[in-house]
Amino acid sequence: MSRFRSLSIRSKLSLVIVAASAIGLLALGLALATQELFNLRQTTVRHLSTVADVVGRNLDAALTFEDPETAHSILGSVESEPGVVAGWVYDRDGQPFAEYRRPGLPADPASPNLLSLGGHEFHKDRLTVHRSILVNGQPIGAVLLQSDLREFHDRLHHHARLLGVSLLVSLLVTFGVSSGLQRIVSSPILDLTRVARRVGEHKDFSVRASKRTADEIGTLIDSFNAMLDEIAGRDDALRRSHSELELRVEERTRDLRLEIEERIRIEDELKQTAARAEEANRAKSDFLATMSHEIRTPMNGVIGCTNLLLDTPLSDEQRDYAETIQSSGHSLLNLLNDILDFSKIEAGHLALESVPFPVAAAVEEVFDLLAPQAEARQIELVLHPGLDSLPQGLGDVSRFRQVLLNLVGNAIKFTARGHVALQVGIDHPDHPSPRLRFAIHDTGIGIPRDKISILFHRFQQVDSSTTRRYGGTGLGLAICRCLVERMGGTIGVESVPGRGSTFWFTLPIAPAHAHDEGPAALVHPADLARLRVLVVDDLDINRRVLTTQLHRWHLVCHAAASADEALECLQSAAAAGEPFHIALLDYLMPGTDGATLGARILQDPTLRSTALIMLTSGSQRGDARRFLDAGFAGFLLKPVVRPRQLLDVLAQAWTNHPLRIAPGPSSPPLAPDPSQSPVPSPPTQPNGNHPRRRVLLAEDNPVNQRVGIRMLERLGCRVDVAGNGREAVQMVRRFPYELVFMDCLMPDMDGYESTRAIRQLERQRVGLLHAPSRRLPIVALTANAMTGDRERCLDAGMDDHLAKPVTLAELKKVLDRWEDAARTHDEPPPSLPAPADVRIEPVDKPVDETVPA
Ligand code: ADP
Repeated sequence: MSRFRSLSIRSKLSLVIVAASAIGLLALGLALATQELFNLRQTTVRHLSTVADVVGRNLDAALTFEDPETAHSILGSVESEPGVVAGWVYDRDGQPFAEYRRPGLPADPASPNLLSLGGHEFHKDRLTVHRSILVNGQPIGAVLLQSDLREFHDRLHHHARLLGVSLLVSLLVTFGVSSGLQRIVSSPILDLTRVARRVGEHKDFSVRASKRTADEIGTLIDSFNAMLDEIAGRDDALRRSHSELELRVEERTRDLRLEIEERIRIEDELKQTAARAEEANRAKSDFLATMSHEIRTPMNGVIGCTNLLLDTPLSDEQRDYAETIQSSGHSLLNLLNDILDFSKIEAGHLALESVPFPVAAAVEEVFDLLAPQAEARQIELVLHPGLDSLPQGLGDVSRFRQVLLNLVGNAIKFTARGHVALQVGIDHPDHPSPRLRFAIHDTGIGIPRDKISILFHRFQQVDSSTTRRYGGTGLGLAICRCLVERMGGTIGVESVPGRGSTFWFTLPIAPAHAHDEGPAALVHPADLARLRVLVVDDLDINRRVLTTQLHRWHLVCHAAASADEALECLQSAAAAGEPFHIALLDYLMPGTDGATLGARILQDPTLRSTALIMLTSGSQRGDARRFLDAGFAGFLLKPVVRPRQLLDVLAQAWTNHPLRIAPGPSSPPLAPDPSQSPVPSPPTQPNGNHPRRRVLLAEDNPVNQRVGIRMLERLGCRVDVAGNGREAVQMVRRFPYELVFMDCLMPDMDGYESTRAIRQLERQRVGLLHAPSRRLPIVALTANAMTGDRERCLDAGMDDHLAKPVTLAELKKVLDRWEDAARTHDEPPPSLPAPADVRIEPVDKPVDETVPA
């Protein structure tokens, strides 16, 4: 079947026609053959019957006369009939009468039965005919003839051959005719196929199939042609739109090229403009750096000299003038810093560090700095407890101080009476990255609601009359906002006019694993005594200010005016076996600058033990990290507003320097260079009674701290200050004090608890960095002079009790008493002041009044 399917349509048609014709002809042939067979049989039977009739008629006499001989010879006459092979005659009774057999043929095994009056019977290859012999209508016998059907078969074969030949001939004719006729059907189809193939192979949609008939094939060809028309039409449209598209693309490309050329031109222009702007910016920064240096250099002289001047004996009037110079200098410096900062922010040159730093130390420093201002305005500065337990902040510590200084400074400035309080805590402690939150509350003039939104914008002040009254540029808060945001925090304010304001800001917390430096230890100048320091600065005034300050702290100090001189100095000191412990290098020097000098020193293996501190004035602010990375041990910004800053940086650089050599007694102080500056003598000791004794004053109130220090120093003591009980414990662990004055009420850890902790340390004899020879006398300083208070102090482990405000005489008495006790070896002093001895004075009486002039 599959072979048939793959035949061409032409073969299929021919085959179908021939097959149909063959079937028809075969049916016809079969019908004819059947008819012929039937006729032939009839003819054969009829012929044999006629012979039998003739023989029978001739036999009637022989039968009548019962003459078998005659009958036999009559029967033998059938020999002339070619097909007859045997014959039998029967008498009236059916008994065989005569028999004939063609000679040479085998005798039939059985004689056929006498049939009825007449009839015939076909066997396989024999035909038997039976005829009755009648005389006067009466049967007298019967005759049976048997033919061998040879003629019948010959004729049958002849007919069959004839039929076969005529069938074959008619099939051949049919095939010939059908081959011609099938073309009528197949050729249009073949034509269509050819066209379709051409379209398929050559994509030629212009050819068409020709229609020759109006039948289904004609319709198919029509549809095919219509489809080709449609495709050609679409092809045409496609080609048209394609060329249109190409045209449009070409146009667009042209436009784009023009646009790109224009952009390149604008970009070039922009680059040129940017380069010019950058050039201008650089010029501006250079100008700022120069101006900063130029202004800071004389300011350094003004502020430094004023600081020194204020430490000398002065008349009241002189002191007043010096203090005015000092505060004006600070204001000028603040203004200068603000303007510089602002220009830097504008120029995008503000570089901030992001390092972990202890918050408590920075906050205390700011409060320290602002305490005199608050005191002068009789405003109480309150620091909420809990600072020490806070995690470290993450940011730029100097910028943090700047923000706090500005906000607390503003709060003091805009508060006429009441207090300014700082509260520090953790903002949203449950948040995944909580922040430190600093809130500065004041009871000042407040800010109208409609002005709050403009506060943090530059040059914005609430009203000009306020400005005239309080001064200021309106830059501070804008700078604060920028700094806080750059450190990753936010800033804001809540305020009620007439009642006060709360400025707040947040700061990221350093990761917990950041190195915890613990609360900053307070450095005492004596801790650094005998260190050899080289001051390198090209300006005489700077050298003088620094060396004088260092001499005052009993450091051994030399000065060099240039990098070369400094190197010479350092090398000869090292060669003499007495290398400098610290070198303070000015950054901006003609010829070799501080950074290059530092690099040279760091490269020289003989000078490695010297710790280097960089001193810069201005534009290098924020570069601390760069200098520290380069190998410097410390960094200080000029002008050094507070001597304390210098002391802290010296101590820090010294303790952090990995190769430091101890300033042991084996290296006695070098004689100070008389050409540099006069070394002031140590403070004079009143009465000459007490050698310099080291005492600790634990006191949280900055004013009381100052008063206490001043009084104790007058009595010849060397005073360290602890801001709360916890700090006091830490300091007692570090330094061998001869006596502790302990305020009872302090934030974080009060005096009672602190005393108990110190006594515990003494008992266990662990945790102390020195070996105490005796019990440390602790003297309570309390504003509570009520009965029972003294007992409470003694119960906590204190040894003595003084009520505030204390007088110089009372202090001296206590000091003397404990000195005597020490001399007589740990005997308790003869008499503790009884409660009755305590002079109760009004608490609000200014403490300074009790200090004799
Ligand atoms: P200024 O140098 O003028 O103080 P700031 O930017 O620090 O500049 O402050 C801008 C203005 O915000 C101030 O002039 C003042 O009007 C107002 N201001 C700032 N802090 C306070 C405050 N604590 N109480 C009332 N007003 C304040």
